[in-house]
Amino acid sequence: MSTVSLAGRRLRLGMVGGGAGAYIGGIHRFAARLDNQFDLVAGAFDVDAARGHAFAAENFIAPERSYDDYAAMVEGERGREDRIDVVAICTPNHTHYPIARAFIEAGIDVICEKPMTTTLEDAVALHELARSSGRFLGVTYTYSGYPMVHEARAMVARGDIGKIRVVQVEYPLEWMATGIELQGNQQAAWRTDPKKNGRGGSIGDIGTHAYHLAGFVTGLKADAVSADLATFVDGRALDDNAHVMIRYEGGARGLLWSSQVAIGQSNGLRLRVFGETGSLVWHQEQPNELFHTELFGSPRVIKRGRDDLAAETRARTRTPPGHPEGYIEAFSNLYQGFAEAIRARAEGREAEPKGRDVPMSYDGLKGVAFVEAVVDSHEKHGGGWCAPRFA
Ligand code: NAD
Repeated sequence: MSTVSLAGRRLRLGMVGGGAGAYIGGIHRFAARLDNQFDLVAGAFDVDAARGHAFAAENFIAPERSYDDYAAMVEGERGREDRIDVVAICTPNHTHYPIARAFIEAGIDVICEKPMTTTLEDAVALHELARSSGRFLGVTYTYSGYPMVHEARAMVARGDIGKIRVVQVEYPLEWMATGIELQGNQQAAWRTDPKKNGRGGSIGDIGTHAYHLAGFVTGLKADAVSADLATFVDGRALDDNAHVMIRYEGGARGLLWSSQVAIGQSNGLRLRVFGETGSLVWHQEQPNELFHTELFGSPRVIKRGRDDLAAETRARTRTPPGHPEGYIEAFSNLYQGFAEAIRARAEGREAEPKGRDVPMSYDGLKGVAFVEAVVDSHEKHGGGWCAPRFA
C-alpha cells in the first residue's frame, strides 16, 4: 500500500500534541524508542505554535520539520521524499478525527490515542476511511500491551477457566476527586468539557480502557449495556463515576466501574474473569502477576518471565522473572506491534502475530459505540438496556 520503501531502516515517526507539560506524548516517545523501530523526526507538538517549536528544538527535531499546526505538517511532510511514515496523535479527544483524517488522506499511517473520536459518526467515518484507503490506524489501548494480559487471554482461549460466566472490570482513579479543572489543571480542563472529551466523562476517558481490556481478554462481544452515571464534583459537566452492567453474547454478565473520584486509587485498573471451572485476576498496579484459581483451590500466582507461558506472552517479555516490567514496556509492546503491522502492509505480506493483535480502528469504533450506548442508557432510557451499535 505504501509507495515508500520501509525496508532496512527505522520508521519515520511524526507527532501531533505531546509537547511541554503534556502527559501521554512523552510515554509514546519512550515506547517508540525502546525497540529501535522508530525515529521521531517531525511534529506539531503544541496547540501554541511557539511553544511547540521550542519543544521541537529541545528534542532535536530539524527546524523545518517543526510545524505550526497539523495542517501545515500534512502539507510539509506529504511532499518530502523522506516524509514521515506514521504520525502519533497525542492531542485531546475532539481533535483526533480531523487530524487522523488529514494524515490518512495524505497517505500517512496513524497511531491515534483513545477514545478514537468524540462522536460515533466520526468513528464510523474514520474506520471506513482507514479500511477503504488501506492505511494503518492503530489505537493505543495501553493495557492490551501487558504480557500477563496476553497470558490471561491465551488461558481463556485455551479453556483454562471454562465458559465465562462473569466479568468484573474496574478502573478507579482519585486525581479528579476535587474540581481541579477550575484550578488550572490542563489535563482535567479538557477532560471535563463535553466539546473536547465527548459525551462520556470517566466512561470515555478510562471506561473505554476497561471495556477494551475486558473484551480483549475474554473475546466476548457486548450485546447490551445498562448504565448509571454520576457527577460528584459540583459544577462538572460530565460524569466522574460510572456503573455499567453488560450483557455479553452467550449469556455472560459484566460489571464495569470507572471513577475519577475514588480516593486512594492511583491507577487501580483491575480485571476479574470467572468461568465455569476457574477464575483469573489481573491488577495493573502489579502487572507482572496473574492470579489463577480453580474451583475450591487456592490462588496460583503466574509470574511474567517464566518459560512455560504462552508464546504471545513470551513475545512481549523483555527481562527475566523478578525484574519488574511495567507501563513503558507495555506501551512499547503496542509500538512494536504497530511497527510490524505497518511494515507488513508496506511489504504486502501477512503480519507476524505481534502485529496482528494490536488495537486498530475497529477497536476504536467499538470503544466510541460503547460510550454512546452507556450515555444513551443513562440519559435517554433511565438506565435501561441499550445495544452498542458496534461490538
Ligand atoms: P494533555 O492535555 O496533557 O496534552 C495534550 C497536548 O496536545 C498538549 O501538548 C497540547 O498543546 C496539544 N494540543 C492540543 N490541541 C492541539 C492541536 N490542535 N494541535 C497540536 N497539538 C495540540 O493531554 P493528555 O492527557 O496527554 O491526553 C491526550 C490524549 O491521550 C487524549 O486523547 C487522552 O484520552 C489520551 N490518553 C491516553 C492514555 C493511554 O493510556 N493510552 C493515557 C492518557 C491520555
